[in-house]
Amino acid sequence: MLFNRLLAAVPALFIAMGAHAQANWPTKPVTLVVPFAAGGPTDVVARSLGASMSKTLGQTVVVENKLGAGGTVGATYVAKQAAPDGYTFFIHHNGMATSTALYRKLAYDPLKDFEYVTQAVDVPMTLLARKDFPARDLKELIAYVKANKDKVNLATAGLGAVSQLCGLMLQRALDVNLTEVPFQGTAPAMNALLGGQVDILCDQTTQTIPQIKAGNVKFYGVTTKSRIKALPDAPTLHEQGLKDFEVVVWHGIYAPKGTPRPIVDRMNAAVRAALKDPDVMKRMADLGAEIVPDAKLTSEGLQTWLKSEIDRWGPVIRASGKFAD
Ligand code: ASP
Repeated sequence: MLFNRLLAAVPALFIAMGAHAQANWPTKPVTLVVPFAAGGPTDVVARSLGASMSKTLGQTVVVENKLGAGGTVGATYVAKQAAPDGYTFFIHHNGMATSTALYRKLAYDPLKDFEYVTQAVDVPMTLLARKDFPARDLKELIAYVKANKDKVNLATAGLGAVSQLCGLMLQRALDVNLTEVPFQGTAPAMNALLGGQVDILCDQTTQTIPQIKAGNVKFYGVTTKSRIKALPDAPTLHEQGLKDFEVVVWHGIYAPKGTPRPIVDRMNAAVRAALKDPDVMKRMADLGAEIVPDAKLTSEGLQTWLKSEIDRWGPVIRASGKFAD
């Protein structure tokens, strides 16, 4: 009898303990998983937000780089292995949507296997080549690539990376099929470009602006429809004749499925606070990143956006015929 009564009280006890853990959250460092190499564009955004969020949360936000397969290794880890206890979060970009079309077998469902915290910043991309690449402007680049399509190679961060997506669109626009050289992020891809080991790289301004300004690379234009404040003199690819060429890199912050909603909401508030931190705002502006409007900084907004991006990119990618198993 007594035992039965004690047993009946167990679920209530766990709920009370759970509520207590949520109210005190976070009591230890929070991990933010980045699915690409340290020092690259996604990592730069994560570390910048993380440093500011550490102040709001009163606990360090530790960035952990889980690399491989165009971001899908990190996503799989968060979906399938990480505990939904409020101590693991995940930042990813358009790859969360595009990998559904790029991979025949994906270990997770981006629309079902996560909790959705918020969007954060939008980042333009830039089309670059190694410094001694024999093309001074986009017109020359197009002519050179078309004439040398068997020789020119394209550095990417793998299938699922935005560098690969941008490269895919470039190949489609030029009607060529280049050799793609995958890296575990565009930090190592940029090193290879600087070392002259690869020819072309399309990458976010969060990594490329310092290299462009230092004159370490050839630079052909930005991938947004309009010019950007951080590089006001740089033409868009669209205005130079690659009609409607547009890739904007959006970022979403996720948690493992089952992370308690009060924690997701508090993480959302911490991201919002970081995006209003003057240091973050300045760094993002200097690197060409645009903080998304408040209306987009919601859990539901991210999920709806992700769905629309899956619908948008699926046909483009399937038409390219480049897949991974
Ligand atoms: N820029 C990379 C991409 O192409 C990712 C990274 O290294 O941040 O997706």
